[in-house]
Amino acid sequence: MQVPAPFDYARATSVAEALELLERHGEEARLVAGGHSLLPMMKLRLARPDWVVDINDVAELRHITEEPGRLRVGALTRHAELLGSEVVGRLFPIVHDAERVIADPVVRNRGTIGGSLAQADPAEDLTTVCDVLRAEVVIAGRDGERVVAMPEFHRGPYETACAQDEIVTEVRFPVRAGQGSAYEKVERRVGDWAVAAAGAALVLDDGGAITEAAVGLTALGLEGLAVEAAAVLVGQRPDEALFAEAARLAAAASAPVEDGRGPVDYKRHLADELTRRVLRTAAARAGALTAVQGG
Ligand SMILES: Cc1cc2nc3c(=O)[nH]c(=O)nc-3n(C[C@H](O)[C@H](O)[C@H](O)COP(=O)(O)OP(=O)(O)OC[C@H]3O[C@@H](n4cnc5c(N)ncnc54)[C@H](O)[C@@H]3O)c2cc1C
Repeated sequence: MQVPAPFDYARATSVAEALELLERHGEEARLVAGGHSLLPMMKLRLARPDWVVDINDVAELRHITEEPGRLRVGALTRHAELLGSEVVGRLFPIVHDAERVIADPVVRNRGTIGGSLAQADPAEDLTTVCDVLRAEVVIAGRDGERVVAMPEFHRGPYETACAQDEIVTEVRFPVRAGQGSAYEKVERRVGDWAVAAAGAALVLDDGGAITEAAVGLTALGLEGLAVEAAAVLVGQRPDEALFAEAARLAAAASAPVEDGRGPVDYKRHLADELTRRVLRTAAARAGALTAVQGG
């Protein structure tokens, strides 16, 4: 049986207390939220914190708050709470698409949005979702709060803008009229990490033209958004040929590696196919279904 190296444990009841504990215990302290990434890493001795600071009692980190023009989601919000939220599904169906295929109910009952984004696993689903929704991440530290846009927050595999002595407190999603969004993932078996996945968000004006577009890929070696794919969409009306071109550009921007989940050609094919599908769904959800030709 794998067991973690010995560690001490502290339970914070506020963000201020958690920050104070992180500062007191320095480099060797790590936060734990759902524990579904940290604890496996500790058991494998890939992480060996001397102190684990538990934030599960920090009530101020656990909320879903609808405000004019935005939705605020506390970092300790569980996957299952996002999936069960009516307002999340109504405003951002892409979040429900992703949450349905993140792990299994056991993981979803504990794992959190803050832990997922902070972990920054290359196959993690919510980073792509937050990227395409142009979310912002609120980070608390000794000197107060700062708000970081997703592209600056996510710095690469297992690397974020959140320093070791800081805490992700909230994720903010801007609400845009006329937006449709979607996420689709291929997994080898139910509950597995992605072989490949794609997410898209489109904003359509009253005339049915695309005014904003964002396309992202998961587990496909693309850091940030597929910028060229999005650029060809803006100013156009949704149709199948346009989506095919955007999907081709997204696949070209991907840089998958061969591993146990499949060879490079297969993953590039998935990048193309999944991008096409999420664009269709996002357009349909934005109310443009009748404008999509030949889908
Ligand atoms: C079997 C299994 C299958 C999975 N499948 C998927 C999948 O298909 N897709 C997917 O996206 N994920 C998947 N996951 C990961 C799951 O979504 C976890 O919930 C997630 O990786 C981490 O969230 P957590 O709350 O458990 O974080 P924890 O494990 O508690 O923490 C992870 C890291 O984030 C840090 N951290 C936690 N909270 C904060 C915070 N508020 N501020 C700053 N740092 C913080 C911790 O210090 C640690 O370094 C899977 C996990 C398991 C165990």
